[in-house]
Amino acid sequence: MTNIDVTENFLDIYTGSQAPGCYAWIFPKSKRAANVGLGVIGSKLHRKMPIDYLNEFVSKNVPEGQPVELVMGGVPVSDALKNIVSNGLMLIGDAARHTEPSSGGGIPTAIGGGAIAGEVAQKAVHQNDSSVRVLKEHETRWHTSFGKIHKGMYKIKEFRRELSDDGHNELIRLFKDLKPQMSAIEILSLRSARRLLVANPKLLFLAPHLPLIRKHILFASERPQ
Ligand SMILES: Cc1cc2nc3c(=O)[nH]c(=O)nc-3n(C[C@H](O)[C@H](O)[C@H](O)COP(=O)(O)OP(=O)(O)OC[C@H]3O[C@@H](n4cnc5c(N)ncnc54)[C@H](O)[C@@H]3O)c2cc1C
Repeated sequence: MTNIDVTENFLDIYTGSQAPGCYAWIFPKSKRAANVGLGVIGSKLHRKMPIDYLNEFVSKNVPEGQPVELVMGGVPVSDALKNIVSNGLMLIGDAARHTEPSSGGGIPTAIGGGAIAGEVAQKAVHQNDSSVRVLKEHETRWHTSFGKIHKGMYKIKEFRRELSDDGHNELIRLFKDLKPQMSAIEILSLRSARRLLVANPKLLFLAPHLPLIRKHILFASERPQ
């Protein structure tokens, strides 16, 4: 969209009922233009189409904006596939359900999986063997690297799905309160965690993944543009 006032280098993200199960965003492109959009989870739609949520979001937050292009599509936000190789076949990206489930962002993980698959493909060519025996390395390496974060983010997504708007605010507060190296017990004793636990007791299952997720989120936000 153009003709809108945005703060450059500042990502505006809205979670909760405005974008059920996912989030809405205003990502600046320049001083007067931004990528404005939202993601929704099909099972959380309340007799409305995704475009209805987008129109409501735009009317509320950037009513003066001029749309220049409309892009839409679907992304998998499930748990990653366990088996991603077969004889002569390696899956990466959306086909392997590698999209980061909490955000729907699948470009970094598709590139990461692609890099692993490329290296394994090179070995297969050199050994003249593209059977599962050689290609299995792709699967193992993905699950022990990107796969760990993916699992945590899937749990976050499942957890967020059930939260009210107040619960979403508490989750953001909890992320602000997390400190590096905190144990699950220490996390659960934070005031924001105790309030969130009342909103959704499944936090107990999520807690062990939070330190890794926090590290991942900070790492992503500190990466040079
Ligand atoms: C509206 C929208 C916004 C998004 N925004 C972001 C974002 O901001 N950041 C982010 O990280 N992710 C985003 N994603 C998700 C991201 O686009 C995907 O996760 C990512 O593109 C997956 O990469 P991929 O290579 O697995 O699949 P794709 O990018 O879908 O590539 C698959 C390719 O295969 C081709 N193909 C399909 N069938 C065949 C066939 N039979 N023969 C030959 N070719 C074929 C397709 O044409 C396509 O070019 C967004 C998705 C959507 C829909």
